[in-house]
Amino acid sequence: MSTHNHDTPNPYHDSHRDEAQNKALAERVDKIEALLLEKGLVAQDALDKLADIYENDLGPMNGAKVVARAWVDDEYKKRLLEDATSAIAELGFSGLQGEHMVAVENTPEVHNVVVCTLCSCYPWPVLGLPPSWYKSFAYRSKVVIEPREVLKEFGTTLPDDVEVRVWDSSAEIRYLVIPERPEGTENLSETELADIVNRDSMIGVTKVAAP
Ligand code: FE
Repeated sequence: MSTHNHDTPNPYHDSHRDEAQNKALAERVDKIEALLLEKGLVAQDALDKLADIYENDLGPMNGAKVVARAWVDDEYKKRLLEDATSAIAELGFSGLQGEHMVAVENTPEVHNVVVCTLCSCYPWPVLGLPPSWYKSFAYRSKVVIEPREVLKEFGTTLPDDVEVRVWDSSAEIRYLVIPERPEGTENLSETELADIVNRDSMIGVTKVAAP
């Protein structure tokens, strides 16, 4: 995870799923897991390995490394924009739900934001699992109709002459936003740059702030 946390309070927090529902869901998962193990359909070490991958190997820290590399290396950025799946794999990130990646670049003229209007498609290898607000009906429906309003609610106010592009993810294509590199970061190393890139900026609902 990024050590910086510039996330604003989120207007799309899914308040419908409360503590009790989370608990019920966890109990259901436990029962299913026990059954699968008992029937010999899965092995405990395979399950542990999977859980370990989602907890430790996948997450926005991967996407942040991709963005930081693109910021410091123009050739890499070119490859990333041409074939994101391969360019991301160069850094060692690939696999499930990241087979067909497309990178879109934010500039002073264009701001990109990503949604899955149908469900919750999301680039797991570079961003991990989607936040609950990304899956909420409110976000999914509103961002395509009033993207500027939604961005404002995330604290991102764009000038009128900035074009907003909304990308609808699907089972086939997952998007990664390359946010703008903030001013005043000329002297930061690639690692330091990766530290300031957070999840929301790679979904496109926020910008990256200078440290
Ligand atoms: Fe989806």
